[in-house]
Amino acid sequence: DPERRVRVSAEKAQGRRLVVVLGDQLSTRLAPFDDFDKERDAVWMAEVSGESEYVWSAKQRIAYFLAAMRHFRDALEADGIRVFYLSLGSESKSLGAALKRFLEAASFDDIVMTEPGEYRLVEELASACGAAGRALRMLEDRSFYCTRTDFARHARGRKQLRMEFFYRELRRRFGVLMDGEEPAGGEWNFDASNRESFGKEGPERLLPRARFEPDELTRETIAEVEERFASHPGSLDTFAWPVTREQAEEALRHFIADELPQFGRFQDAMWTGEPFLHHSLLSGAINVRLLDPREAVAAAEEAFRKGRAPLEAVEGFVRQILGWREYVRGVYWLFMPGYLKRNELGAEEPLPRFYWTGETRMRCLREAIGQTLQFGYAHHIQRLMVTGLYSLLLGVSPKAIHEWYLAVYIDAVEWVELPNVLGMSQFADGGDMASKPYVATGKYIQRMSNYCSGCAFDPGKRTGEDACPFTTLYWDFLTRHRKRLEGNPRMRMQLRNLDRVNESEREAIRRKAEAIRAENRGEGTRE
Ligand code: FAD
Ligand code: SF4
Repeated sequence: DPERRVRVSAEKAQGRRLVVVLGDQLSTRLAPFDDFDKERDAVWMAEVSGESEYVWSAKQRIAYFLAAMRHFRDALEADGIRVFYLSLGSESKSLGAALKRFLEAASFDDIVMTEPGEYRLVEELASACGAAGRALRMLEDRSFYCTRTDFARHARGRKQLRMEFFYRELRRRFGVLMDGEEPAGGEWNFDASNRESFGKEGPERLLPRARFEPDELTRETIAEVEERFASHPGSLDTFAWPVTREQAEEALRHFIADELPQFGRFQDAMWTGEPFLHHSLLSGAINVRLLDPREAVAAAEEAFRKGRAPLEAVEGFVRQILGWREYVRGVYWLFMPGYLKRNELGAEEPLPRFYWTGETRMRCLREAIGQTLQFGYAHHIQRLMVTGLYSLLLGVSPKAIHEWYLAVYIDAVEWVELPNVLGMSQFADGGDMASKPYVATGKYIQRMSNYCSGCAFDPGKRTGEDACPFTTLYWDFLTRHRKRLEGNPRMRMQLRNLDRVNESEREAIRRKAEAIRAENRGEGTRE
């Protein structure tokens, strides 16, 4: 009985400092480990089923967090650190309950942790400690370039937040890709060179990716997840993520040497049967702190300085980490807890059932969801312009789609997932995070991939039997939200095109869109 084991040891657990470590805080470089004294201090970690069940987590995500936690525990112990580790299967379903129980029996002078990346856990853990009659010290998370206060200061007095301004500020402040006062290459942003598609022939030369064969501990973890979470979505057959610090470093080296040079040009492209392309696959390792974002940024800059990768690729990569990653974290903490409930477009439709299976005739969704369930991974444009776009156009409730994203990706932690989903992809914050809704017809997907060539639908058609649902729903979206979007200069062109659609065509679009929604609600079947 894992709980009993921990409680028995808790009775003997005493010392100076207890460091509480969450599943995404797997680094001794974090502040609570400063002047850690192996004689008097200890670490507390816990696996609780509630963390895998409060959203219906996919098996890849559960196994990823558990395997990384268990390896971290073993590394600490090998280093002579005392770890009180609660394994799955205990009575405590939540981290708060598990910590409270432990503290009631243990005796430490100081309980300390890095601030959690999730608002819910800040409250849960602080009140658990309170209930056990103890204070919990939460320290600044130094694995980010910026503190939460830095971002709040940046945001103060601004009518509108934009990633680009924040990003430039950070480039200057941290001297990243700078030549003196000027950005390297004379420009801040090479986004315009980051949007190529592969053309008819597809990607030229894809090297095998660094995948890490599960060791015995990971294999045990996989078997346990298969058993305990049998009904959860996805599969574990392909699990090969880096779960230790060394593996994460190896994954970074591999990306910089083999993929970074191509990363920029094809950042937005998609291809059937190719889930990874030239992406780094590093988000999971960075989010659970096996890698520090500064290490990834420094390695990319070094590749540029040594002439091993072009500037547009390196800047594109740096922008994602130093720019977007820091920006979304700032947005999360600035707007929480209210952010979770935002629904500015009044979207109330249920999440399509096929998001949990990938079984749909829409090939782009079948591909993006299929690989998501298989690997716990999809790249940015698949998330934004396939699964996210369909949900936005259909009008799925932001809460439902947020819970899906939080459940299915190995890199999903609320601070990064929520602003990306609710703000960037669903426009549910009315534009606090992004300057306009990312909406497009199926033609965008056709341009950026080869998905449409094997699909039952035609991306050029908005009405008729074989009309692409994205295209139908796009025109319907513009019609439904016209009033709200009119004031946005970045939507002017799209609305002007809507004005060219005649009344009877609009009515046909409306009916077709309604039929798609009715089918999604299970109220009838589309042919
Ligand atoms: P690459 O394309 O190689 O990019 C390099 C790194 O940049 C990533 O590893 C990541 O650390 C960072 N990055 C890139 N884009 C973003 C971004 N928009 N926000 C924050 N960091 C970024 N990322 C997560 O880490 N967790 C999530 O739960 C998550 N959910 C998302 C949901 C939606 C709807 C969208 C549109 C994006 C989401 N992202 C999320 C951001 C991005 O899609 C992933 O970080 C990326 O696809 C991970 O793959 P990669 O490591 O190969 O990234
Ligand atoms: Fe997706 Fe439409 Fe293209 Fe089919 S035609 S793959 S549904 S965009």
